[in-house]
Amino acid sequence: MKKFKPTKKIVFASEKEMPMTPMSLGSMLYNLTGAWRNIKPVIDKAACIQCGICWKYCPDTSIYIEDEFPVIDYDYCKGCGICAEECPSKCIAMVEEEK
Ligand code: SF4
Ligand code: SF4
Repeated sequence: MKKFKPTKKIVFASEKEMPMTPMSLGSMLYNLTGAWRNIKPVIDKAACIQCGICWKYCPDTSIYIEDEFPVIDYDYCKGCGICAEECPSKCIAMVEEEK
């Protein structure tokens, strides 16, 4: 069996030390989200402090920045709620999908 070189775990004291790049490579961007998503994030732009943390944490890279504000790409968003959980100003609401 092939032996893999052990990797070193990188630990950051806080999110502020982390580089400002998306944490995911967005492999799920090849898969459109089907009709199974039950909840979706909605951003209250008026309360957004434009920190970019939602963009950084989205595991599907389904958030992009336009005119300095985050925008959700609902074609790919899986409704996981990580962006809402990580948003420091709590301006992302997870709302039920209309079916
Ligand atoms: S709900 Fe999940 S997949 Fe959708 S934008 Fe937020 S973090 Fe990304
Ligand atoms: S994490 Fe919240 S406050 Fe920061 S850019 Fe995203 S929506 Fe705006």
